[in-house]
Amino acid sequence: MKHILQIGAGGVGRVAAHKIDQLPASFPEVTLASRTLSKCESIAAELTRNPRVAQVDADDVAATAALIRDSGADLVLNLALPYQDLSIMEACLEAGAHYVDTANYEPRDEARFSYEYQWPYHGRFAEKGLMALLGSGFDPGVTNVFCAHAQKHLFDEIHYVDILDCNAGDHGLPFATNFNPEINIREITAKGRYWEGGWKETEPMEIHRSYEFPVAGEKEIYLLYHEEMESLSKHLPHLKRIRFWMTFGESYLTHLKVLQNVGMTSIEPVSFQGREIIPIEFLRTLLPDPASLGPLTKGKTVIGNIIKGIKDGKARKVYIYNVCDHEEAFRETNSQAISYTTGVPAMIGSKLMMEGTWMKPGVWNMEQLDPDPFMADLNQYGLPWQIEELDPESPDLLA
Ligand code: NDP
Repeated sequence: MKHILQIGAGGVGRVAAHKIDQLPASFPEVTLASRTLSKCESIAAELTRNPRVAQVDADDVAATAALIRDSGADLVLNLALPYQDLSIMEACLEAGAHYVDTANYEPRDEARFSYEYQWPYHGRFAEKGLMALLGSGFDPGVTNVFCAHAQKHLFDEIHYVDILDCNAGDHGLPFATNFNPEINIREITAKGRYWEGGWKETEPMEIHRSYEFPVAGEKEIYLLYHEEMESLSKHLPHLKRIRFWMTFGESYLTHLKVLQNVGMTSIEPVSFQGREIIPIEFLRTLLPDPASLGPLTKGKTVIGNIIKGIKDGKARKVYIYNVCDHEEAFRETNSQAISYTTGVPAMIGSKLMMEGTWMKPGVWNMEQLDPDPFMADLNQYGLPWQIEELDPESPDLLA
């Protein structure tokens, strides 16, 4: 495979484009496409090789399939928004290209992201000898691979998983989101959910704890629903419980509460001066572009999994995590660490497929593939991980 077509030129797209540019042996030919051509051109101007750039509306299956054919792409890396997942998958099937994304499909008119829309494509991809890799970002993505690594090397049975996403970075602005504001706010204002033999629902942000993170120190963490739990709860055979936690600062939560209370985060259309607008889409136009946070953000992210289970008949508990520095990420790719921690795994998943290391027809989640080459590439391409052995008797976050 020679040619990768990347669709999406936002924060994550900028990082992936830089990383792909650095690896000509794995990615000899590159096309960078998005809805707004000037954004592709601005990224291309930062790169050493000269990727082809193109304008495409990825909601349009025929136009996207034409671009895949015209560019000769073997694989499409979808770094547009979750709304485009299905149309890009359809275009890949039509034009005969493999597929990678970082977030599962979500209908625009319903804040409900789920693999139930993409898993049914398994048969159609398999029939055509094509592969679709779902969720090759950090969370989902690396957090799934951390589980696969733990299952393969550290445990006989995994019983409990807590995924902890800590962003200890500070951009100095009163309110901004680190990735697409619309997707981010839809995720956070939804009800919380975790899996314990079945799904348990909580009010948004109802459950929170404080946790002493390595490097970042003590932070308040909030239980959220996050998409990797949907696949991991199916694919880890001995699992008893999986939860997802994210850190939020007080200022962020206060702003969010006010915006919610006045209806600005709603996805229901309202009539304004004779035309219909969707409040959260309007809010997005007011908030800082996540890409603009790059030069402002200082501090680190600490994202990883606390995993508890059994090894050789004994209880075991480990913490597998990565620490990423916002300023270092910016120096290398002109983007902050949230985009960096997503763009690097997006490149690695694509690279493993382009090389044929990860290649099996059908639709797959990250934990269904051999974690070893991915874990090795994380260390090599900017997201080194470490494993801390914890006391298996130490209290669980919710004990
Ligand atoms: P941005 O909003 O910064 O960028 C999205 C890009 O997609 C923009 O270039 C946008 O174009 C383009 N786009 C939107 N709609 C279309 C369309 N119809 N056709 C073609 N291009 C389109 O988002 P991010 O870079 O922050 O996020 C990218 C993806 O990464 C999202 O799906 C997000 O959910 C996911 N993500 C995953 C994470 C993980 O760890 N797994 C973490 C963070 C993000 P335009 O500029 O014209 O609007």
